[in-house]
Amino acid sequence: MRCALPGRFGERGLCGACHRNPPPFDRVVAPWAYQFPVSALISRFKYQIQRPDGKPLARLFAERLRDAGRTPPQALIPVPMAPSRERRRGFNQAEEIAIWMSRQLNIPVHRQSLTRANHTQTQSGLSRRERLANLKGAYRVRGPVPSHVALVDDVMTTGATVRAASRILREHGAATIEVWVLAQTPSVSSG
Ligand SMILES: [Zn+2]
Repeated sequence: MRCALPGRFGERGLCGACHRNPPPFDRVVAPWAYQFPVSALISRFKYQIQRPDGKPLARLFAERLRDAGRTPPQALIPVPMAPSRERRRGFNQAEEIAIWMSRQLNIPVHRQSLTRANHTQTQSGLSRRERLANLKGAYRVRGPVPSHVALVDDVMTTGATVRAASRILREHGAATIEVWVLAQTPSVSSG
């Protein structure tokens, strides 16, 4: 119910890790496991500047959400990249996904609500503990945050990023926080 990881059930639909240590978000929605062929599409989209490769995934994801008929969030908030990294890459893949989904679902994208400071280093290659330390103070919130939001990103690995972002959004008034990611690594630990 909470972390969306497969094969883990327990009390009130929560897995042991979410039960013991509730994450700062309410629910992860992740339609795919991060494995072939979805992983290949996502990494091409991210690293080879072939942005349209992400579009069919975002569209399918939006269709699935619409069919599920749940109360939609009031805003989509892309997980920001460090500004220097975004300049190098030329775009933020989370923002691209949010924009595509926004068009399908008629939910506004709040691109400036959540920003990331420049001093943080890239998360890849760091352990979960190192990632959390690296992200301390990494995010800033600007302006009022709606009470029901969806944080949008491409892939959820350790969950450190969305945890840090969810915490600060909650401090700024978000009461219900969904995490929408295209894919989740099957081995991710939510504990
Ligand atoms: Zn869980």
